[in-house]
Parts: sequence; C-alpha cells; structure tokens
Amino acid sequence: MVFAYDTEATLAFTSALVNTGERVSNSTVDTLADTDALRALLDENDYSGRRDGDAAELEAVRALRPLFRRFWELDRDDSVALVNGILRDANALPQLVRHGDWDWHLHATESDAPLATRMAVEVAMAFIDVIRGDELDRLKRCAADDCDGVLVDLSRNRSKRFCDAGNCGNRMNVLAYRARQSSGA
Ligand SMILES: [Zn+2]
Ligand SMILES: [Zn+2]
Repeated sequence: MVFAYDTEATLAFTSALVNTGERVSNSTVDTLADTDALRALLDENDYSGRRDGDAAELEAVRALRPLFRRFWELDRDDSVALVNGILRDANALPQLVRHGDWDWHLHATESDAPLATRMAVEVAMAFIDVIRGDELDRLKRCAADDCDGVLVDLSRNRSKRFCDAGNCGNRMNVLAYRARQSSGA
C-alpha cells in the first residue's frame, strides 16, 4: 500500500469523478448527468453522510470536476495552494472517525455539511499525502490516444498506464493484438 487506505480510496474516487466529465475512450457522454448517476457513484464508493439528492447538489459536485482535474495539471507547489485553499474555505477540522465498515480514518467536516464541501475537503486531505510524500508522478493521464481520462497509479512498480473508466487497457491490448496479426500475416 502506498498511502493509508482511506487516502487510496479517496484518490480512486477522485479519478472516477473526474473521468465522468472527460472524453473517455472517445466517448464525450457526461456520465454524471443526473441525480441517479450521482447516487450510483456515491453508493459505489460507499459515501457516507448527508445527501440531498437534488439538482443543486448535483451541480455542486459536477463543478468539482474541473477543480479536481487541476491536480493532474499543477506542479507540487501549486497543488499545495489548491489544497490549502480548499481546507481554509471549508474551515476543515481533521478528526478520526469510524463508521460502517470503515475503520479509523479522517473526516475534516461534519457529516451534515453539504456533499460537495465534504467531497472537496476529503479530496484535499488525500492530496496532502500525495504532496507530502512527493508522489505526484503517480497522477497520470490515460495512455490511450482517444482518451482524456486520468488515473492514480498505486501499483508497486508504477506501471499502470490506462484509466479504469474506458476499459482502455483491454481495448489497447486488443488493438495491439490486431495490429500484430495484420502485420504478421
Ligand atoms: Zn468516513
Ligand atoms: Zn482511458
């Protein structure tokens, strides 16, 4: 494990959220288009705390995507400014909590704070570890030509190249196989 388990879960969630708004394996369909899609994403990631399930909440979460995308573009010092700004704006107060199947982990907002606020703070807290450990090179863009997806490479040998959203690894394997077949034949 590269980071603490809650940090790794949040990093995976961050890339999944960002990828809902990216061109992923040549599809520009926004996969966070309605409140049902948001509910599914939250359930998949075992997201606790307040959910309003309304359009305002959906809009606020959607607006986080370009903000979080910046972590894949900024250098280390600028990432620090982004993290500190989010934590300051939300008056974040880190506390260890335990709930459901989750052992002790960090929350820095009240569970009844708006979803987008909690999400922003949780992501900022996760990137503290990325920045502090100088692991920003684990933040990668998908290597498929037709994909703008992002990923967090948590593999031991830093060998992950493709995003999870577009099934790009398998897709590229199939394309490479076909290319080999046609050139070999
Ligand atoms: Zn929690
Ligand atoms: Zn991809």
